[in-house]
Amino acid sequence: MTTYRFKEITLPVTKTVPCRAGCGKKVRRSTTLSQTVNPWNKDADGNPKSAEQIRAELKAEAERWHPVNDIHPGCLDTAPTGSAAE
Ligand SMILES: [Zn+2]
Repeated sequence: MTTYRFKEITLPVTKTVPCRAGCGKKVRRSTTLSQTVNPWNKDADGNPKSAEQIRAELKAEAERWHPVNDIHPGCLDTAPTGSAAE
């Protein structure tokens, strides 16, 4: 049995964004974006994406990327939890 190994292209992203709670502090977050070069990963024209195409897409995605968790730990502790008061 043949095992096909597809090349994965990864792009580490680190961003420093202002804390969403508005305290003025900055939060630093990172992620790794990735896409695999394979025959089913196609562009808008239906052609399999090249490694260069994927790198360009990952770069664009990195520009748009914003961390989900953009509240620093100190603010998380004091932020209302949203649960009903007892
Ligand atoms: Zn904060």
